[in-house]
Amino acid sequence: MSAPARDYYETLGLERDASAADVKRAFLRKARQLHPDVSDDPDAEAKFKEVNEAYSVLSDPRRRQNYDRFGDADGMGGFGSMDDLFSGFGSMSDLFSDFFGGGARQRRSGRGRDMAARIAVTLAEAATGTERTIAYDRLGVCDDCGGTGSADGETPHTCPACGGSGMRTIVQQTILGRMQTSAPCDVCHGTGTVVEHPCETCEGQGRVPTHEVVTVDVPVGVRDGETLRMAGLGEAGWRGEVAGDLVVEFAVAEDPRFVRRGDDLAARIDVDALEAILGCTVEVEGILEGESFLADVEAGSLEGARLRVEGRGMPRRGGGRGDFYGIVEVHPVADLTSEERETLSRVSRSHGGRIAPELEAVAEGRAPSAKHWPRP
Ligand SMILES: [Zn+2]
Ligand SMILES: [Zn+2]
Repeated sequence: MSAPARDYYETLGLERDASAADVKRAFLRKARQLHPDVSDDPDAEAKFKEVNEAYSVLSDPRRRQNYDRFGDADGMGGFGSMDDLFSGFGSMSDLFSDFFGGGARQRRSGRGRDMAARIAVTLAEAATGTERTIAYDRLGVCDDCGGTGSADGETPHTCPACGGSGMRTIVQQTILGRMQTSAPCDVCHGTGTVVEHPCETCEGQGRVPTHEVVTVDVPVGVRDGETLRMAGLGEAGWRGEVAGDLVVEFAVAEDPRFVRRGDDLAARIDVDALEAILGCTVEVEGILEGESFLADVEAGSLEGARLRVEGRGMPRRGGGRGDFYGIVEVHPVADLTSEERETLSRVSRSHGGRIAPELEAVAEGRAPSAKHWPRP
């Protein structure tokens, strides 16, 4: 057995200047011979995968260009967002099963199915909105017949088997008598129309496996799990019927700095015990790039105290913003000098505070100044 062919052109039996249409035709021809459901060749599956891989590169202008120049489809400038693809619409081989199995499968309607994709964004990206490019494979409109499924441009005519209803009535004799059931017509696959000379490229389906690249607008303030329906970008319809939609789901990542609740954002505000007692104004980093604002920590704030700054939360799609909430976390006061401890002990004592015995002596004037003592 030979090593897997690395030359994608050779795999598909193409010259290097082959057109996009040549690539598609060569791929479909090879794939038909090698599809594991059809071929007897014991290596069919491995060969099918190679053909698949070659096609996925050569059918994508950007990856093909990379491959021609660098010998590697993704080495330079490949899509960074491939991870964004959601497997909701199944694998490549499912796609081809749908395509090759399409002639035999009974269909209720010729409308293409919806497909799903997921786009992951950071919270900061969700705040401003952004753009993402995603790449995916689908059954797209066959260019060779313009989606009609007909080789010679003839308009599809009414299916003689079902009279155009797309359904056939099956009558069965059972012990209870005659039973009538209806099922999609197997001649026209439920579409109600047929063509005399089917297009060779798509075998009359009007659609073929295609590689799509679309740019998606990620809206301002998008929420985790929110979806966007992109009409007509799902699976192409059977013989020119309505295409399904591409349903994009946004996944907004958690942010280490902020907790989001609806349009509001919360973050920890670190203060030391003295700041908590006296109150302070702190500078807070906002969700927008380079944004900062001031927040007031009230005097006497305790651990877990909340403060609110209006209009500094997540931007909203229609304008305006949610609010920012600061949650106070109180930390020990670092590096107090002996003198500072003495000063504080006097303040505390005058409020009836309990203080350490050695500080008590100083506070009462019974002991020499603190500078004789070691630092704590
Ligand atoms: Zn029919
Ligand atoms: Zn076609």
